[in-house]
Amino acid sequence: MNSYRTGRIFCFGTMEKKKKDIRALTSEQLREFFIGQGDQPFRGNQVYEWLWQKSVHSFDAMTNISKETRQLLEDHFVINHIKVDQLQRSRDGTIKNAVRLYDDLIVESVLIPTATRTTACVSSQVGCSLDCKFCATSRLKRMRNLNPDEIYDQVVAIDNESRLYFDRPLSNIVFMGMGEPLMNYNNVLKAIEKISSPEGLGMSPRRITVSTSGVPRMIRKMADEGVKFKLAVSLHSAIDEIRTSIMPFNATFTLTDLRESLQYWYQKTRSRITYEYVVWEGINDTQKDIDALVDFCRFAPSKVNLIEYNPIDDGKFKQASVKAVQEYRDTLEQNGIIVTVRRSRGQDIDAACGQLANKSENTEF
Ligand code: SF4
Repeated sequence: MNSYRTGRIFCFGTMEKKKKDIRALTSEQLREFFIGQGDQPFRGNQVYEWLWQKSVHSFDAMTNISKETRQLLEDHFVINHIKVDQLQRSRDGTIKNAVRLYDDLIVESVLIPTATRTTACVSSQVGCSLDCKFCATSRLKRMRNLNPDEIYDQVVAIDNESRLYFDRPLSNIVFMGMGEPLMNYNNVLKAIEKISSPEGLGMSPRRITVSTSGVPRMIRKMADEGVKFKLAVSLHSAIDEIRTSIMPFNATFTLTDLRESLQYWYQKTRSRITYEYVVWEGINDTQKDIDALVDFCRFAPSKVNLIEYNPIDDGKFKQASVKAVQEYRDTLEQNGIIVTVRRSRGQDIDAACGQLANKSENTEF
């Protein structure tokens, strides 16, 4: 058991536990609260602005609100902001945050700077309920889903870091940190709504990518709801037997189901799908694997990101040879499929894809 979790038993007194997180309220609910208190509804708007646009951490910071009203809020609510407990910087500029939640659990988020963009990679769950064999997060038991405000706060923290260290705002967000975002669907969608709303960060949803290991029912649901963000799927193999051996949930959500849900997604949204794909030595580095991927890509307009693998401790998975990756690239291109080869970022601080595992948890803060 990690030391943060044991701490949570003691972190709040009885009174605090009964208070509601004010950021779980919509602006409408805040207005209703003030009406119920005999105040004006616009007070709700003022408080909402302080909470989201200005991201204040205490009621006392709401300086255009009277002292009595601030006390009223204090009596009824808490503001459960995240806290960046530890910040690590990679040689390549990547920044990894160890983020402490209100109940002392920890998740990680990453800022990835390039010449043209700054991307936030955020977590959606504490741990993960899926068990991808190549992923460090899979070793952490899923403790709980993140609330919308905890997801939002990770983005705000990274936006601040981007401005501080790189002198520019955050440009993109990927849900590729800890957890399976579609297993926390409602909260992820609420967070995206807040991130893209003018009352929040006002970011275009087209700059947000939700990356899933592939939950067909939820992909259909997203398509039906007409979401505007982009979709990426961690595919890694287009052969059921191999995919199930590295991503065991594939036995339940088979490639046929996944493919049909992706076709449905494209019919409804007309939005191209990105496949995240790592090539491992001895696992998916043969011509048969390449041909299967090419076939899978034919079902809907798509793009393939061939991602360099970041080894985790057990050494069972090894990055395939340059030649094997080149074979993939050439064959995909010959078949008219857009392909990029992505170099790994933040490897030296365990911040790269698949490496997030709260290793910083044993560090003294
Ligand atoms: S790759 Fe994603 S879905 Fe799979 S175990 Fe890791 S965090 Fe969970």
